[in-house]
Amino acid sequence: MRIEIDCNICLDHKSEEKSSFVRYSCFCSVRDDGIYEFECPKGHRTITVLRTPKHEVLFAIASNALLDGYLRESIASFAASLERFYEFVIRVICRAKSISQQDVEKCWKLVSKQSERQLGAFTMLWFVEMGDPPNALTNTMVELRNQVIHQGKVPTYQECIKFGQAVIDVISPIECKILDKFPDSHKDECFALSKSVIEKHEQPPTILSIFSLLDAAIQENVSFEICLERLCLYRKRKGIPSIGSDLMRATTVHPVRKKT
Ligand SMILES: [Zn+2]
Repeated sequence: MRIEIDCNICLDHKSEEKSSFVRYSCFCSVRDDGIYEFECPKGHRTITVLRTPKHEVLFAIASNALLDGYLRESIASFAASLERFYEFVIRVICRAKSISQQDVEKCWKLVSKQSERQLGAFTMLWFVEMGDPPNALTNTMVELRNQVIHQGKVPTYQECIKFGQAVIDVISPIECKILDKFPDSHKDECFALSKSVIEKHEQPPTILSIFSLLDAAIQENVSFEICLERLCLYRKRKGIPSIGSDLMRATTVHPVRKKT
């Protein structure tokens, strides 16, 4: 997946222009650190920070992979999105308990390499905090994920849709509860990266959010398929075709007649 990063200095100059002007933007591959630096052809150097939380970015990657026709990659990224969401919730609750970031990192190191440990940590923390066990993926969905990730299974388009919806169904009630109980810590965790970039760089970065299907599905209580249709329309406006389940191509064939 690529995201469009505008040169904000070009954009700032637009008010000085009396007629049309050229603005540059860069189509960058998604970066793990969420920090995008580039120099536009006019020589403007800019820093942009992607504010969208990692689990939402991974969900967007999964949805774009699905529309690009990469079905295995789609399920792998949906599964990663759920795992990073568990981490996000752990970090929000630690913030709400005023635990120092240094101590959180020290403890996270003990579970960071194994997703099963992270799931265990999340489940018990949630239970202690909320009094009920959290929603979890059904065995059928866990089996599908394992077959795709560990056994090289190529899922169908419909299996990917079901898996994406299952991830939303797990995340949605948890996200609503943490937004309700810890709104400030939730916001602080979302802005943690941009805050650290602002502190480290003299030049103020541009803060960017991308269209988050996961957020739209949760906030508007709509299905994954409806959100995916919106993504299709967005891609169409940008000139990116969506393959989805099947792509039909018509080719005119001109048979070559043999000379007699
Ligand atoms: Zn520029």
